[in-house]
Amino acid sequence: MTSIDAQELLQQFASDNYAGICPEAWNASEDANRGHVTSYGDDPWTARASDAFRELFETECEVYFVFNGTAANSLALASLCQSYHGVICCDQAHVETDECGAPEFFSNGSKLLVAPSIDGKLTPESIRELATKRQDIHYPKPRAVTLTQSTETGRVYSLTELSAISDECKAHGLSLHMDGARFANACASLGCRPAEMTWKRGVDVLCFGGTKNGMAVGEAVLFFDRKLATDFDYRCKQAGQLASKMRFLSAPWVGMLESGAWLRNATHANRCARHFATQLAGIPGVRLGGPVEANAVFLEAPEEVLDRIRERGWKFYTFIGGAARFMFAWDTDIERIDTFSRDLKECAAETQ
Ligand SMILES: *Cc1c(COP(=O)(O)O)cnc(C)c1O
Repeated sequence: MTSIDAQELLQQFASDNYAGICPEAWNASEDANRGHVTSYGDDPWTARASDAFRELFETECEVYFVFNGTAANSLALASLCQSYHGVICCDQAHVETDECGAPEFFSNGSKLLVAPSIDGKLTPESIRELATKRQDIHYPKPRAVTLTQSTETGRVYSLTELSAISDECKAHGLSLHMDGARFANACASLGCRPAEMTWKRGVDVLCFGGTKNGMAVGEAVLFFDRKLATDFDYRCKQAGQLASKMRFLSAPWVGMLESGAWLRNATHANRCARHFATQLAGIPGVRLGGPVEANAVFLEAPEEVLDRIRERGWKFYTFIGGAARFMFAWDTDIERIDTFSRDLKECAAETQ
């Protein structure tokens, strides 16, 4: 085997999915790699992972495991809608900007009704506006709302905000879906129990992200309104999302949930984001693009500074949220953040 250049393995902050697999998930996969068990989810690991979710969320929810977030979101939304329905989302929502039309595809045409936003959050007002804008037969009938917690721009909906959104949904007969690709980061940020942020606030379906939380692959779809899960297993199978060796999707969740790694990982990532943010004060021309509430930091900086940082080998994206985005993961090394901050300071000083 040829080895990979050490330089290429250095930590980057372009995305939280650049990180590897945390020990708890890895060890559980290894445990699951003993002996033979039944396939397609009819195995003890999948049962144990589902029970661990029910215990964590303090409710008898229906639990499914799929390979990625695009599938989780799309199939969950499809289960809330008929093809002539509409799904209200924020203009920054991953379902709108980063899923290649999968929500429309898997729902056979349910249209995303996009609410403009400044900070990547839906509000009760924006939901009301879209839900009541048209009542006629020529426009898709609003049927569901999707919000992202924590958001694509690194913000977190407070429990009060979630309650207000949920009340608005109820007023218009809309189901509520939560894209929780970074659910754990939001939980760590609010310091609340998962139930408080979901079904107790009217969330009907949650996609709980494992990948960015420290797993190799996999998201869990939790139906708190169990009726909505009818035939969801068929939907998964048809979409190519039913793993035949399901235990390798579900066992890592056992490791993550039973050990508490899901929350520890997110707490660490959030702390790293705050640590980085505190180092930005006084760097000329560089400022925070918004409050740091989860594991993302957005920077506004002159193009010249960003170019110089790239030249020093740092990777990051600028197409999300209109600023340079830096994401922190379960394994982020504080010293590596400090190295980056020093480089950033030097680059900013060079352009003065
Ligand atoms: C990463 C992410 C997803 C999942 O993306 P996949 O690449 O399909 O796994 C979903 N929603 C948000 C907000 C994300 O950041």
